[in-house]
Amino acid sequence: MLTPNNKIFTNLDGKNSPFLKEAKTRGDWDKIKDFIGKGAEWIIEEVKSSGLRGRGGAGFSTGTKWSFMPKTTDERPHYLVINADESEPGTCKDRDILRFEPHKLIEGALIASFAIGAHTCYIYVRGEYFREAMCLQKAIDEAYAAGLLGKNAAKSGWDFDLYVHRGAGAYICGEESALLESLEGRKGMPRLKPPFPAQMGLYGCPTTVNNVESIAVVPTILRRGASWFSSLGRPNNTGTKIFCISGHVNKPCNVEEEMGIPLRDLIEKHAGGVRGGWDNLKAVIPGGSSVPMIPKSICDTVLMDFDSLKEVKTGLGTAAVIVMDQSTDIVKAIAILSKFYMNESCGQCTPCREGTGWMWRMMERLVKGHARIEDIDLLEEVTHQIEGRTICALGDAAAWPVQGLIRHFRPELEERIHRLSATDQV
Ligand code: SF4
Repeated sequence: MLTPNNKIFTNLDGKNSPFLKEAKTRGDWDKIKDFIGKGAEWIIEEVKSSGLRGRGGAGFSTGTKWSFMPKTTDERPHYLVINADESEPGTCKDRDILRFEPHKLIEGALIASFAIGAHTCYIYVRGEYFREAMCLQKAIDEAYAAGLLGKNAAKSGWDFDLYVHRGAGAYICGEESALLESLEGRKGMPRLKPPFPAQMGLYGCPTTVNNVESIAVVPTILRRGASWFSSLGRPNNTGTKIFCISGHVNKPCNVEEEMGIPLRDLIEKHAGGVRGGWDNLKAVIPGGSSVPMIPKSICDTVLMDFDSLKEVKTGLGTAAVIVMDQSTDIVKAIAILSKFYMNESCGQCTPCREGTGWMWRMMERLVKGHARIEDIDLLEEVTHQIEGRTICALGDAAAWPVQGLIRHFRPELEERIHRLSATDQV
């Protein structure tokens, strides 16, 4: 378990003020000028050797991503864009950073922008996070007033401006290229890649898009050292992570823990355990609604990090742990997710536009027991026709929950079809 002195987010519960005076007592803004004085290469190497992997879901090395930005600047400016469009069902970790630890994000934005050669950063905040955006803006205003942002930010010699942009509530704007489209004032539709944002991103300029948590942990990594961060967790899965635990637990919560903590410990030590006890557990979606669920038999021993969850055919995703006890109608639960993805598809590519609707209608038939046994195989095959064949990952996100259901709960699906079709015939 993570010891209190290794926590990065010491105000994650919001018990103290998020604003500058108290943030400084928590160590925020300490040594920022010194870090910038060491140069961009030093910052990127520190972040690389800390092993930090992106906290938004994909798990790509943050330092490596920064190193993709052009080293020489042409006439085009560089941009950092921070993705705070947190819309994945079950996920609410960035929300607590925005409202309770905004200065970690702001100082992280300055450091990361300097490292990639950007004088401007936009934080794209989910439209529904109105109060969070207000809180963040207030923290930015006081940082400007204190000389931490703007010309010669924090006396570092680097000019830096930071803007908050509020989205309008579309899930797809969390996809980085759709987010850039939206930021430019267009409909949030994912772009074909290549070119990748590091070559041609915002306004056609080199851009890095990072998740809120990825940026907010950087100042502490530099202050405490890359080797401190990499000593936490497991090889290739280092550091700490904010987990959001919801569903059938006694105490739903957001908690920062060490990567690689056993799922069972995470739920029992921080969320008060599964409602009715561990044996009452049916399944867990371990990384936000788009990753496949895992049944209790896997939950008993699995570790919460990128590689361990990949080994059991699911993913860490956003680390939003959705717990379902034995009372859950698991077929209906996945049907609800299918409907969500159908509604949020932007409609650009056929497998996603048509496939998400088709999957939802098939899931509804399974809910009502009006499907045939052979429809289970047909449904599974269609998920594979969608997976990996679309412009963005929404197609995968829609397919994986259904695959997880069929992989682990096929007998329950078959029993339901037999039972409900027998009832219909009475
Ligand atoms: Fe749009 Fe879906 Fe294609 Fe993504 S996968 S671009 S959401 S249609």
